[in-house]
Amino acid sequence: MKLRTKIQLFTSIFMLVLILIINASIYFLFYNNSVDSELEELAEQTTTIISTMNTNQGIPPGELIKAFLPADGLIRVYPETGSPLVRQSKSSDYFDLPGGYSNLEKREVTTYNGDRFAIVSRPIIWSTGEIVTLQIAKHLISLEESMKNLLYVLILASIIMIIPIIIAGNLLARFLLQPIKSLISAMKENKKFTQWKKIELNNRSKDELYEMEKTFNEMIDSLKDNYEMQEIFVSDASHELKTPISIIKSYAQLLERRGKDNPELVKESIEAIESEANRMQKLVEQMLALAKHKEVQRGENVNVAELLEETIDVFIGAYGREIEFSLKDATLYVHGNRDQLKQVFYILIDNALKYSDNKVTILAEKEGKQIAVYIQDFGAGIPEEEQERVFERFYRMDKARNRNTGGTGLGLAIAKTITNSHGGTLAVESKLGEGSTFKVILPANE
Ligand code: ADP
Repeated sequence: MKLRTKIQLFTSIFMLVLILIINASIYFLFYNNSVDSELEELAEQTTTIISTMNTNQGIPPGELIKAFLPADGLIRVYPETGSPLVRQSKSSDYFDLPGGYSNLEKREVTTYNGDRFAIVSRPIIWSTGEIVTLQIAKHLISLEESMKNLLYVLILASIIMIIPIIIAGNLLARFLLQPIKSLISAMKENKKFTQWKKIELNNRSKDELYEMEKTFNEMIDSLKDNYEMQEIFVSDASHELKTPISIIKSYAQLLERRGKDNPELVKESIEAIESEANRMQKLVEQMLALAKHKEVQRGENVNVAELLEETIDVFIGAYGREIEFSLKDATLYVHGNRDQLKQVFYILIDNALKYSDNKVTILAEKEGKQIAVYIQDFGAGIPEEEQERVFERFYRMDKARNRNTGGTGLGLAIAKTITNSHGGTLAVESKLGEGSTFKVILPANE
């Protein structure tokens, strides 16, 4: 069953039941009140009869009673045993109405031959001195008529009420389902044509449906960004891999054609093939690293000061370059993955050494609730317009020169991904000809 039919059915049935309950209550309340007032009236009549009998002792009670005979009813007087002393009615149809002697006052409604009667019985002292039962019965013709009319009115009112309820249910279903419908059609179109179609936000009110539409659009935006980034990444990656592959291929062809009698060429070709293969290996490893470092892997309490010392030692040992390290606080703790954080510092120090010939200075300190690490070199620097771009994947400022330095353009992208996944930031300040300072900020682990 469609959601729309369900909403429509539920609201209609619910309202119908509600109307039936209300109308039935009205019907029975009216009936009870009317019956009560009829019985009350009859009871008052018996009181009047008794007082009239007391004040007119001379008149035979049987005769006196005639004056009080209701138009559609009967009056009877029952002795304790035997047939009634008085039985008077304007219609003989009522004579057989069930009744009898009772020494208690009774008010009741009885159905006789399909007609309803209000009956009041009261014990009284008869002229003979014995206790008898005075019984007045009244056929509730007008009440039956009123109840019938009331029933028609209530049925008509229910029918009239159910029409706007059905219309309201329909409108409600439409109101609720419209955004869902457009969402489904947008999803179907997106799936069928691989599009990034969003839905038009209606500004009626900022309700849950509006939130759903807004979230859907945000999700489409982020899917689109992700998809485009992946596309760029794949095309950049294949482009980057193409160069070493074609170099290897051309050296292989050269070796095939002229390698046999040219030992110099063989040596040069093998070196070039090895260097390009290494480059490819590095590229592939870095691409994998980029995918892997989007999340922090196994976090622990890491002392950044210690980590920097370790990394700096490796570089001094390998290159013999001057690296000046100043530490303002002995313990600088962050929560994160040791190996991933080490890779950030490794990339930044490696770049500082690669792109400058002078010393490199490193400063680590605590700034409020953050740990800051500055890696400064005095090299060529990065022009202002390129300072944001150097963090992009595969972005290299001077491709020819960077080829010689073995750069892939992925280092800073990896470093930024790791810092961001640790809740930190990575930025650069640089002046052409004076050098660059890369600044890593990480949240301190108290
Ligand atoms: P690469 O593998 O090319 O070094 P990176 O992502 O690490 O890739 O760096 C991107 C580009 O940013 C480099 O190619 C280089 O041009 C520039 N760059 C990075 N660090 C420095 C630096 N310390 N000084 C000058 N330029 C730098």
